[in-house]
Amino acid sequence: MMMMRRDLMNILSCPHCQGELELKMATDNDEEIVDGTLLCVSCGRSYQIEDGIPNLLPH
Ligand SMILES: [Zn+2]
Repeated sequence: MMMMRRDLMNILSCPHCQGELELKMATDNDEEIVDGTLLCVSCGRSYQIEDGIPNLLPH
């Protein structure tokens, strides 16, 4: 299982436009993001993180 670690934010990009993703409304423990929303700063699409797993698949 791929957990959403904080340092993953540096390598993730928007699957739609390859834009930069910004983390919003996150619940985290020390190193892992448990729940939250990734917002693309370029196209405005948002992606959910649920149970530590970022859902970057297009809907
Ligand atoms: Zn985008």
